This record gives sequence, structure tokens and C-alpha cells, in this order.
Amino acid sequence: MSFEEKNVKAELRLQADDHRELNKKHQYYHFDEQVGPGLPLWLPNGVVIRDELERLMRELEFLGGYQRVMSPHIAKEEFYQRSGHLPYYEESMFPAMELENVNYRLRPMCCPHHHKIFSSSLRSYRELPLRFAEYGQVYRYELSGALSGLMRVRGLCQNDAHIYCGIAQVKNEIRAVIEMYQHAYRILGIADFRLRLSKWDPNNLAKYADKLKEWEWAEGILREVLVEMNLPFDEESGEAAFYGPKIDVQLKNIYGKEESASSVQLDFMSAERFDLNFINERGEKERPLIVHRAPLGSHERFVAFLIEKFRGAMPLWLAPVQVQIVPIADRHHQYAKHVESMLHNSFVKVSVDQRVESLSRKIKDAKELQIPYVIVIGDQEVSSQSLSVQQRGRRERRQLSAQELQSELSGKIAARSL
Ligand SMILES: [Zn+2]
Repeated sequence: MSFEEKNVKAELRLQADDHRELNKKHQYYHFDEQVGPGLPLWLPNGVVIRDELERLMRELEFLGGYQRVMSPHIAKEEFYQRSGHLPYYEESMFPAMELENVNYRLRPMCCPHHHKIFSSSLRSYRELPLRFAEYGQVYRYELSGALSGLMRVRGLCQNDAHIYCGIAQVKNEIRAVIEMYQHAYRILGIADFRLRLSKWDPNNLAKYADKLKEWEWAEGILREVLVEMNLPFDEESGEAAFYGPKIDVQLKNIYGKEESASSVQLDFMSAERFDLNFINERGEKERPLIVHRAPLGSHERFVAFLIEKFRGAMPLWLAPVQVQIVPIADRHHQYAKHVESMLHNSFVKVSVDQRVESLSRKIKDAKELQIPYVIVIGDQEVSSQSLSVQQRGRRERRQLSAQELQSELSGKIAARSL
């Protein structure tokens, strides 16, 4: 069976709420064989969702005391030897590329780069906790059979951060990360998830360093935080990162298959591998603990979950087109354009349907695309300088002035209401 035949067969079985099926109508992303499997090209509609999620997380991170950093997508191979990625994670990495007799690798994670930012200057306990955040593009090798729309890809963007702290601070930091997740999930209306304490597997020493005491200590810290926060969770062995245990937030896709969407990880290993230190209160060198966290995991997977959760009817603040203006006839275009530019100037994503189509066709198409607000403009609206407003999911139409609509939209978008 050819690659295309397999694809067609798989697509025949897609449910209507599968993000790959919804993508056909809503145009969030595109895969191109010449670019390569698992390497999504994000279309404008998908980027709106990503950008808005990013804006939300930037705000939460700013309030949480994070600082933004940036780092390159590649590094020398020896860097990943030191970080532990090559010894424990090589099967998930892209192969080496040689440049001036030195091998380089595409990064599978941002962590090692952030560790180097930490060690770029002498650190004092007074600076801690230091929280470095980056929207980092990373590359991971997934078997071609495992690739699935945006759920599993080979090029992904992580909403990543690393927190460097002392031992007395670590529980508070983990708790604050979990509270940030709860906040973000509430905004997104995600209530159906499972928390998993992901532990090492002492029988798999190809994947995990043989440090029983340290593993048990780190797992104990995560367990204590979950218990103190009164959060139900399950424990599973063999699911930890190679550098430490983690708490995963597990979401189900529409077929009931569970995937990790977010995680917080306690790393007791990397500080030693990179010889990271800070000067403690007694003037001595001390190793920091490192918390890795990615509340939105990969943007790719998280957006896929949201597309499926909302079945393409994205909440107003995440909608690629928030308002569709439908002028009934050509003579209404001028007023339609005026309203469009007014809304556009207050950062509303608005478009005018200028096609030569019937009114009912235009309204039907806007509904099909689940656009939150559809505005009809005819003779009556032009003469009274008003708008006939139809909101998604509501039967009644309202007559509003352009100002009234503008302030209603601005308020709802700013509140990120669902
Ligand atoms: Zn990390």
C-alpha cells in the first residue's frame, strides 16, 4: 500500500471532531511532503490561536516572576553528551550534521541552553529562584507511523521554562507552577484531566541513571506537593524524564487516547552534569535544583486538543475571525468597510464578506465556520447607522451601534470569556 493510500484509508476513519478533519474546513495548518512528515506549516488561522495562547502565558509568566530568554535551535553534539540527552534520549533526536569537522544536533529540548544561561554569571542565593522562560522550537524523531496531525509531530514549539532554586524553595515553586496550570486550564475551560506522578523505572537503567536515593527523594517531593494541594493523582513507573520525576497533566483525545499535555519536572541531575552553582548564605558553593515546566506542553498538541474540545467553535478570544460582516448589497459596502476599520483599530479580528453571493449563503458559510459574531448590514442599518448582530449559539438578533458592539467585544476579549 502506498503512502497516499494509507493516508486516505486512515482519513476515512476520522471522526468529525478529529482536529485533522476540522482542519479541512478551518485551515489551521498544512503538511507538505516536500517539507517532510511531522513538520507542520502553520496557516494564519492556526497562528492566531498559538499567538493568543502565548500572550496568555506571557502574562501569567510575567506575574509569576519569570524572565524571558532565547536560544538557538542547534548545538554541538558534545553539549548533548554532557546534558545526558545522547546517553539517554538519543533515539528521540535527529541525526548529527557535520560542520567544520564538528558534529551538531537539532535540539530536542531547551533545557541545556537555559542551564548555560544560568551559568553565564556567578549566581547568588539572593537571585534565586531564577525563572527562565522561552517559546522554544525543538525537534524530535517520532516514528512515521506515530505521526498524527498536530498531536504527534517532529518539529514543535514548547512553552518552556526552567526554575533554578534552593532546596528550601523547591516545593513552593512546584506548587506555584501547578497553580499556574490550574489558572490557565480554568480560562480554557479544561476540567477533564488526570494528574500522573511519573516515576523512574529501576529496571530500565538504559533510560535512567542508577541513583535510587535521589529518585526516591525527588518523587517524594512531588508526591508531598500533590497531597498538600489535595489533588487526586495516580503513580506510574517508567514515565519519568531521564533527569528526574514529573507530574504530568493527561488529557484524552476524542478517541479516548491519553496524551501528556502539560508537565512539571524536578531535576536533581543536570546541575551536577553542568557544574551549576550558586553562592549560598554561608558563602559556599551550592548546587541549585531545577524545575522544568511546560504548561502548554507543545503548542502543536495543545492546539489540537483545543480544536477538538471546541469542535472548531473557538471561544471569542481565540477565534481566528471574531466578526464577519455581511453587507446585503454593493451599496452597503462603504458602511461595512467603515465598521470593519473601526473594529480592526480596536484589535478585533474582523472581515467583510464581499463575495457576490446571496445573503443566506453568506450567513450559512459564516455559521459553518463557527464565527462568533455575524453582522448583517442592509438599508435599515445604513440609514440608522446601526448593526444587526447575530451571536454564535443564540437565536435572537440584536440591533447595536458600532460603538456598543466595539465595547462589548473589547470587554469579552480582554476577559477571555468562554
Ligand atoms: Zn527542560
